[in-house]
Amino acid sequence: MYQQFCCARFGIRHEVSREDGMNLRVVKRHPDDQPDSRNIYRFYVTPGYRIGQEVKRLNIRYCPFCGTDLHDFYRSDQFVNEEPDIF
Ligand SMILES: [Zn+2]
Repeated sequence: MYQQFCCARFGIRHEVSREDGMNLRVVKRHPDDQPDSRNIYRFYVTPGYRIGQEVKRLNIRYCPFCGTDLHDFYRSDQFVNEEPDIF
């Protein structure tokens, strides 16, 4: 079920809704904001939030569960689960 993810725990935290803490959000940056075209995705741990709230977040590069380099592993829009304007 979670084979598309680096590990099952990442998959679980990625698929919960934004209101359910703790969760992982993947954001695709606007091209204008991202001079480094290799790393256009950003990965965040959040405690859960609603639209319009200030979003407390931790920008991460490595999976907190298995250590995978997220920039190397997640290179597709299919993993994006939040809009850049929310953050
Ligand atoms: Zn992982």
